[in-house]
Amino acid sequence: MIYLDNAATTRVSPEVLREMLPFFGEDFGNPSALYRAGRESRNALSAARERVSRLAGASPREIFFTSGGTEADNWALISAFLALRDKGNHIITTKIEHPAVLRTCEYLEKTCGARVTYLPVDREGLVRPEEVQAAISPDTILVSVMTANNEIGTLEPIREIGKITRDRGVLFHTDAVQAFGQIPLAVDELGVDMMSASAHKLHGPKGVGCLFIRRGTPVRAFLHGGSQEYNRRAGTENVPGIIGFGKAAELAGNRLVRNDGREAALRDLLIHELLAIPGVSLNGSSVRRLPGNVNVSFSGISAEALLIVLDQRGIAASAGSACASGSLSPSHVLTAIGLPEEAARSTVRLSLSDETTEEEIREAAGIIREEVLRMRGR
Ligand SMILES: *Cc1c(COP(=O)(O)O)cnc(C)c1O
Repeated sequence: MIYLDNAATTRVSPEVLREMLPFFGEDFGNPSALYRAGRESRNALSAARERVSRLAGASPREIFFTSGGTEADNWALISAFLALRDKGNHIITTKIEHPAVLRTCEYLEKTCGARVTYLPVDREGLVRPEEVQAAISPDTILVSVMTANNEIGTLEPIREIGKITRDRGVLFHTDAVQAFGQIPLAVDELGVDMMSASAHKLHGPKGVGCLFIRRGTPVRAFLHGGSQEYNRRAGTENVPGIIGFGKAAELAGNRLVRNDGREAALRDLLIHELLAIPGVSLNGSSVRRLPGNVNVSFSGISAEALLIVLDQRGIAASAGSACASGSLSPSHVLTAIGLPEEAARSTVRLSLSDETTEEEIREAAGIIREEVLRMRGR
């Protein structure tokens, strides 16, 4: 299989699995226990927290492990709203956020009286910092803008927005699930107060992620119960998952230090090969783009039909978001960048990882060309 759906999830790397395995077996102690087996789990958790915090440029005390990116996004938005509802009820986000943010905003609107501004984006998917600035009012309590979009790979101007939110004394959350481990991120440089990440997008296991909460941020517990995660996220820790996340973060950090540009070069090769097919256009930005993201529209082609054919030929890709089947509405991201419905339904996302090879890219591009021309010929 040529796996080009790394934005959906990635393969757990063998080194990650190796570090996790003992914690499913003999090292099963509860990290809260006082005897040796508990201490060993506790120490392993601390080491993982250290590794994840290093990749975020945060202090270990500011990393709170969760069940994934979705929980981190829910926690950030709901808890910030509850903590600050006396100050105001206004949240600013964008039209292209992941459903974990959008549906949570809608929940807050429906059940808690939140007022939410969904900022538009330009044709490349970029949010304009000036629009964030202009949308802030005295009752604004939170701004949430994703670091990188999961469909079109656009890298948002987080640093610029962070300057504005800091200036105006408004909390700033970023969903960095797609960017964490893919591009260098440092919470202080970005000026964010909260940041979501998820292990399975960087060769870690599914079902574990984290929320960075800057020291002093008035955001409290999301799950109530025991005193795990510094009293902010109750429940016995997902020890093997967290250990795996730690290792995955360490490996991703090493790749970022190496900074060989290999993945981005393969992305550009794939874009180049696909644009050579008639009637193909690139969505998103050609410069402010995740190193592994390719998102293209094939005019006159049903993305769904193409994906089925590609699957038969051993290529795993997706139509941008999880639900793109015919009857459902087209992607909210593609709509937001101004793509007509027809083009949105002809759009495919191919996402690479550091494991993707040049042979795979050349083979995939050849197969896609062949199948697109064949489908158009019918
Ligand atoms: C995958 C993803 C999520 C959800 O993360 P899970 O760990 O799968 O819950 C949230 N936001 C973005 C941008 C994502 O790509």
